[in-house]
Amino acid sequence: MKFDYLKDLLGNRFLDEKIDKLQYAYDATQKMYLPDCVVLPKNTEEVSKIVKFANENKIPVVARGCASGFSGGALNIDGGIALSMELMNNIIEIDLDNLIATVEPGVVNYDLQVKLKPFGLFFPPDPSSWKFSSIGGNIAENAGGPKAVKYGVVKDWVLGLEVVLADGSIINIGSKNVKDVAGYNLTQLFVGSEGTLGIITKALLKLHPIAQGSQTLQATFYDMSLAAKTVSDIIKNKIIPSSLEFVDHQAILTVEDALKANLPTDADAILIIEVEGSKFQIKEDVEKIVQICTENGAKVKIAHSIEEEESIWLARRSISPTLKRIADGKLNE
Ligand SMILES: Cc1cc2nc3c(=O)[nH]c(=O)nc-3n(C[C@H](O)[C@H](O)[C@H](O)COP(=O)(O)OP(=O)(O)OC[C@H]3O[C@@H](n4cnc5c(N)ncnc54)[C@H](O)[C@@H]3O)c2cc1C
Repeated sequence: MKFDYLKDLLGNRFLDEKIDKLQYAYDATQKMYLPDCVVLPKNTEEVSKIVKFANENKIPVVARGCASGFSGGALNIDGGIALSMELMNNIIEIDLDNLIATVEPGVVNYDLQVKLKPFGLFFPPDPSSWKFSSIGGNIAENAGGPKAVKYGVVKDWVLGLEVVLADGSIINIGSKNVKDVAGYNLTQLFVGSEGTLGIITKALLKLHPIAQGSQTLQATFYDMSLAAKTVSDIIKNKIIPSSLEFVDHQAILTVEDALKANLPTDADAILIIEVEGSKFQIKEDVEKIVQICTENGAKVKIAHSIEEEESIWLARRSISPTLKRIADGKLNE
């Protein structure tokens, strides 16, 4: 039989019943392509053997994290093997001397943040899908979220990778050294490569100390161009918010329709702004931002509790999925 080798290698971590394959046939695009089988490796050596077998037998193999991707990269459009990384979900090391985490690709972004929090650390890339996307998928998609304005995206936080190439060979690229500058920057080649160049089996991630505090503001504008000007004015005043998100009229309407979150549906745009730092720094930045927003005609709401803060961010995080409801052909970058 075609897949006997994989069955022997993986036992009950090889799946070829239709009911199982269906669960691995989709991603966030909501398109369905049934793989011929699903494999659930537990370590790099197994990944290497699976990929080598697929290569020798000319069988397509598609890596899969949590399947939250909007670009269809986790879909087995030509059948073949769905290579799910979900069981490779160990946080191997949190190196407090160097502020670096070594993780397997199946670790969910949120689970990593939870483990890091007691150490006063975090991994800055924060896609809105952080609770249901894997570090492997984040790296393969070069993901980023609201904090990108201050902290950048995944490419800014990956120091090194272990990767299984198409012939099954295992390479280690990059290192814990920050000034690792000799030779080609292969690590960055794999960041954003959407599973096309190899299977990421381990990652060295830079960590950052959590700020002492933060404050979220919501500024409501009745003129979109003034909202855009406010973004420039904030940056011009040398304030780098930890998040600065622009929500336009259509997005406000769509989220309000879905969530009933009490958003100002008559507004042209909302800016969601978060600043962080020491108490003194936050106070100074908030005062300046309120002044800039008000001068540009906005009404400003400052979140005074975690609940208020969360409700503001829930609205932001819901934009993409709620827009998808009304625009099936919506494409994400
Ligand atoms: C509601 C919602 C909100 C979202 N918000 C954001 C956002 O704010 N910012 C953002 O950037 N994205 C966002 N996304 C898109 C998506 O969540 C991200 O792209 C995420 O990084 C994908 O991770 P995943 O584990 O789900 O990967 P999957 O969808 O499983 O896979 C994505 C790609 O990565 C490849 N891949 C997965 N694991 C590996 C591996 N170990 N080695 C090699 N390739 C691999 C797959 O082959 C595929 O090409 C959102 C998605 C949803 C549904």
